[in-house]
Amino acid sequence: MNQTLFSSVSKKHCQILIVGAGPAGMSAAKAAAESGQKVIMIDDNPVPGGQIWRDGANVTLPPLAVKYRQHLAALSNVEILSGSKIIAPGGSQSVIYENMSGCGEIYYQSLIICSGAREILLPFPGWTLPGVIGAGGLQAMIKGGLQLQNQRIVIAGSGPLLLAVATSVNQAGGNIAGLFEQTSWRALFSFAFTLWHWPTKFYQALTSFNSAYRANSYVLEALGDKQIEAVRIQQGTTEKIIPCDRLACGFGLEPNTDLGQLLGCRLESRALAVDERQQSSVENIYAAGECSGIGGGELSLVEGAIAGYSATQQYQRAEELIKQRQKWQHFANKIIQTFPLRDELKTLARPDTLICRCEDVPFSMLEPHTNWRQAKLNSRCGMGACQGKICATAAYHLLGWQTPPPRIPLSPVRVQSLTNEEK
Ligand SMILES: Cc1cc2nc3c(=O)[nH]c(=O)nc-3n(C[C@H](O)[C@H](O)[C@H](O)COP(=O)(O)OP(=O)(O)OC[C@H]3O[C@@H](n4cnc5c(N)ncnc54)[C@H](O)[C@@H]3O)c2cc1C
Repeated sequence: MNQTLFSSVSKKHCQILIVGAGPAGMSAAKAAAESGQKVIMIDDNPVPGGQIWRDGANVTLPPLAVKYRQHLAALSNVEILSGSKIIAPGGSQSVIYENMSGCGEIYYQSLIICSGAREILLPFPGWTLPGVIGAGGLQAMIKGGLQLQNQRIVIAGSGPLLLAVATSVNQAGGNIAGLFEQTSWRALFSFAFTLWHWPTKFYQALTSFNSAYRANSYVLEALGDKQIEAVRIQQGTTEKIIPCDRLACGFGLEPNTDLGQLLGCRLESRALAVDERQQSSVENIYAAGECSGIGGGELSLVEGAIAGYSATQQYQRAEELIKQRQKWQHFANKIIQTFPLRDELKTLARPDTLICRCEDVPFSMLEPHTNWRQAKLNSRCGMGACQGKICATAAYHLLGWQTPPPRIPLSPVRVQSLTNEEK
């Protein structure tokens, strides 16, 4: 059906198609390529790396990232399609992609989905003011070259990403005006005492520690007229107002499961469900990295390798990695236990707080309804450019509403791609 909807001018064939070129995708490609089979790895960024290894003007890539990139670039059986996004499933065992040159279709025997995760943005009064941004989003802009000299930055939310972003802000010349973690000191200390199980993480925690870090603290409101000017923070039992030029918020990550769902893969805990071999509920489809559960770069790497080996029937190689995966899964579980979002964060939105930024839908228009579909039909929430990626996830956290199944196209596409007209 989708073949008639999208004009597919170029056709490509491979044995293993990998969607996403972050740590999971690169590791899957490297492992799958060892079988000698033809691999295509596609990613919408200009160069491989995903989120954690995102390249840019302000980036010195870690040696491991450089090693993966060079290794893959040198393999004759791996084709890397950068700057290209998968926009829909095709016919049987194919997907449709779009890039600067147009639209195409890739036929595969096995598919490995490594589509990563996106930030959770929770609405609070003032969250749509210019200057308020996702913490990972600010980090991506810094990596792309943004300079922050003489700017006061407040970072708030939850999880280890906050510390990584603080390091990036310092490197870009910004002043950290506050660094607020919503979880308790108690939870943090008990997490810190387990870190010796993962020495590299222990070292990372020590080297990224920031003296501005405060636990048991969370954002209440962003203040300002045309632009953020200050942020109101709850710190323990007291409230504070902190002047700032930017507020970067990170409330955790949401797995990117849309493509898998459209291909019939089952979800478990909001991620693509996988078995020991990283195989999804659909026989020739595998999933690895954060689309199959949030767990960090190390877990993504090992899951990617297991998926790559399994999809190419190198089962012995896959099994050798199971213990390593357990180790990093254990770390991921600790993170989840340490940083659950507190209920107060889910009650910050006021009646006039926008929930859907694309269609300007305030919280008061959602409240009379009992589920996402009803609210959408009556208010247009989730009908804008992001198609609910932000607001439907927020509604899940705020109201407990099930997120609707994804629809094609997976992201905005050019009209030409929809019209079946070749250039
Ligand atoms: C904004 C952001 C910033 C982060 N920064 C850090 C950090 O500094 N440190 C840290 O430890 N962790 C960070 N993380 C967590 C990080 O995502 C993981 O630890 C790690 O990068 C996960 O690897 P992955 O391969 O699963 O996914 P990713 O690295 O996210 O890679 C997935 C790739 O798939 C691509 N993709 C998705 N859908 C499609 C599609 N339809 N078509 C084509 N390409 C597609 C994405 O663009 C992306 O390049 C960040 C996460 C986010 C969301």
